[in-house]
Amino acid sequence: MEEGGTSVDAGTVKRWLETAAASLHEQRDYLTQLDAAIGDADHGTNMDRGFIAVVGKLDGLEGPPGKLLTTAGATLVSTVGGASGPLWGTALRRAGRTLGDAEDFSALDLADALDAALEGVVELGAAQEGDKTMVDALAPAVRTLRSELDSGADLTAAVVAARVASEEGMLATKPMQASKGRASYLGERSIGHQDPGATSTALILAALERSLSEQ
Ligand code: ADP
Ligand code: MG
Repeated sequence: MEEGGTSVDAGTVKRWLETAAASLHEQRDYLTQLDAAIGDADHGTNMDRGFIAVVGKLDGLEGPPGKLLTTAGATLVSTVGGASGPLWGTALRRAGRTLGDAEDFSALDLADALDAALEGVVELGAAQEGDKTMVDALAPAVRTLRSELDSGADLTAAVVAARVASEEGMLATKPMQASKGRASYLGERSIGHQDPGATSTALILAALERSLSEQ
């Protein structure tokens, strides 16, 4: 409990994942529609199935926040067939490993964990910003979280700014031409559609913001 003024515990991490699951469930058809335009129309069902499994797995599970995140990540990898399962699975596992066995963590630890999550996604999927993927929402969020904390923002304010950055990143995917994932098969025809994975990423960041405000 240092910078940022607040620390985060296992209860908040659990609430984050549950809130994300509820939001992905609610937005399932929208995410699938986005994927129908430039992919294979399964992104909503993929994320929903994965996060339903995560919530089931975490139900009654005790343990430090890092353990909850590694368990959630492993669950996504094993339950989601599409690209998003291994990508988000790796992200959450890396974040969890970064947090280790600590009972709670600081705002700066959260920034480290999300850095590691992004690094895992980039290592696995090799997408850079501008390729029209979830990286276009996650990278600005991670960068903004760090810079806000560096300039003295508290945890809640920094996460709000990170969520806003993820939404801007999400919207910015619309005019992009995809160069990674299924959408890249469409070439120029991928232009003009918002990326489904960037959209679900913004929802997951919004869930983080809500779980902190309820802390
Ligand atoms: P699939 O493409 O296998 O059907 P999903 O539909 O669940 O899987 O997920 C599609 C999303 O995954 C895309 O919208 C994009 O954001 C993300 N994605 C695909 N390939 C990559 C990649 N190489 N790196 C990062 N994200 C990717
Ligand atoms: Mg798909």
